[in-house]
Amino acid sequence: MPDLLINGIDIAGISSCLLRRSSRAKRMRIELRPDRSLLIVIPDGIREDQWLAFVLSKKQWIVRNLQRSVPQQHDLKRTAVGFPSEFELVCTGQKYQTCRVTGAQNRALLVRSNLDLVCDQPSDKQAYQVLRRWLIKQARVEFSARLERISIATGLEWNRLSVRGQKTRWGSCSAQGNISLNFKLLFLPANLVDHVLLHELVHTREMNHSHRFWALMKKFDPQCTHHRSELRSAGKLLPGWLVNL
Ligand SMILES: [Zn+2]
Repeated sequence: MPDLLINGIDIAGISSCLLRRSSRAKRMRIELRPDRSLLIVIPDGIREDQWLAFVLSKKQWIVRNLQRSVPQQHDLKRTAVGFPSEFELVCTGQKYQTCRVTGAQNRALLVRSNLDLVCDQPSDKQAYQVLRRWLIKQARVEFSARLERISIATGLEWNRLSVRGQKTRWGSCSAQGNISLNFKLLFLPANLVDHVLLHELVHTREMNHSHRFWALMKKFDPQCTHHRSELRSAGKLLPGWLVNL
């Protein structure tokens, strides 16, 4: 049965709400999809007032998970464009022009602001791979230096840093103090990058989002609430072509 688009469920941040009746489903459940639509799966025999009450009881869960799904893939796809001829790493303020070159070894060569992407085949896929590797390397250098600076200012220490291309997170921190950051942060303003880095560093002391966690965040960044709300819509700042990486 096709999903039915329903109106009347008003939860900020949700792009659309779909209802699926299923004879196989045993329980009611909701699913938040990458395009920020909400899917509600209902077993046969459940009345409208019952599933409406169920969805509303999950409102907090939905809002929390929407906030977590930060890099909005939905926004990216909508603005997806071809391979970039130039781009700016907003975090560092540096602009680059790209040039695709055919050569024996896949690698990126930077001369001033000209970034040559050398590939042995002239395919988009390879060029994106080379660009992705280069971005991860830049992110590693940039984020290490920033972590170091924040660490000195706050006395918070981390163990290892890894940089990846997470689909739904800007960063995370393990119980061992290993911080993982999203290279797409390079495309956000420096103050938001530092906000994410501080967030993960504070996790080395407070693993959850308790009052103590937020108190520490505010202590180190008095504008924490403002930064946090800016970060929520920061997915829109990412260039569309990033969806291909
Ligand atoms: Zn956190």
